[in-house]
Amino acid sequence: MDDLPPLREVIARHGLRAVRRLGQNFLLDLNVTDRIARAAGDLTEVTVVEIGPGPGGLTRSLLAAGAAKVVAIERDERCLPALEEIAGRYPGRLDIVPGDALRLDYRALTQGPVRIVANLPYNVATPLLVGWLREEPWPPGYLSLTLMFQREVAERIVATPGSKAYGRLAVLAGWRGEARILFDLPPRAFVPPPKVVSSVVELVPNPSPLPCDAGQLERVVAAAFGQRRKMLRQSLKSLGGDATALLDQAGIAPTRRAEEIDVAGFVALANASGRAPVG
Ligand code: SAM
Repeated sequence: MDDLPPLREVIARHGLRAVRRLGQNFLLDLNVTDRIARAAGDLTEVTVVEIGPGPGGLTRSLLAAGAAKVVAIERDERCLPALEEIAGRYPGRLDIVPGDALRLDYRALTQGPVRIVANLPYNVATPLLVGWLREEPWPPGYLSLTLMFQREVAERIVATPGSKAYGRLAVLAGWRGEARILFDLPPRAFVPPPKVVSSVVELVPNPSPLPCDAGQLERVVAAAFGQRRKMLRQSLKSLGGDATALLDQAGIAPTRRAEEIDVAGFVALANASGRAPVG
C-alpha cells in the first residue's frame, strides 16, 4: 500500500504504549483500516478530518484511498513524530493538529467539503458526536461521519422507537441525519483489545430536518427519557409547566411513554414547549 514500516514497528520505535485514559485501542491491521476508509466513500475531492490518528494506521489508509487532504487531530504528543513520517510520505496532504478534539473546531481547520472519519477514543466519543449533531447553522460543515463506537453506543445511535436502546442519542441523530451500522469489529481487532465489540457507524446529515430549536428538543427529550418508564404527563412535569396541555398542543396522548414517541413527535413537543408558557 505504501512503503512505510509496519505499525507494530512504528509503535515499538516511538514507544507508543497504549494509555487507557486516552481511550487508546489501536488498529494495527491495515486491511481493517482500509475497510473503514472504503466505507467512508469517495475521498478524492474532500478533506478528511480524523480524530485521534494515534500511530496512524487509519490515517495511512485514508491517504492511500486518495483523500485530497487529511487533517488529523491528536491529543497524545508521543504520536506526533510517527505522524510526521506519514506526512513526509504524502507531502502536502497530511496536516497534523496537536490538541483536544473536544475543544478544537474542525471548521476553522478545513476548507471545502469535509468527511469526518475516526476510530474514536471511547471516553469522548459521545460528546464529540453530540457536538457534531448540534452544529449550527445546519446543514453542517461535513458531508458524512464514519465513526467507530462501542457496539452498545452504536445501537443507541441507530435505535428506533419501541426498542430498549431508543433515547436521547437516537432522537438527536434521527432528527439531524440518517445513521446506520456498517459493520462490527471484534475485540481482537484492536491492540490492546477492549472488553466489548465495536461497530462502525455512518451518519449522513439530513439537509432539511423538521424545523425545531435544538435546545428545546434536547430539553424535552431529556425530561421525557429522564423517567422513561413513566407516562409523559408525569415525566414532562419536570419542564415546569402544564404537561397535559403541552401534550395536547403536540397532539400526543398523555398516557404515552417516551420510548414510543418518534422524532416527529418530539419535534412537535419541542415546538409546542417553545411557543408559549403552558399552564
Ligand atoms: N486511529 C488510531 C487507530 O485506529 O489505531 C487510534 C485510535 S484510538 C481508539 C483513539 C485515539 O484518540 C488515540 O490516539 C488517542 O490518543 C486519541 N485521543 C484521545 N482523546 C482525544 C481527544 N480528546 N482529542 C484528540 N485525540 C484524542
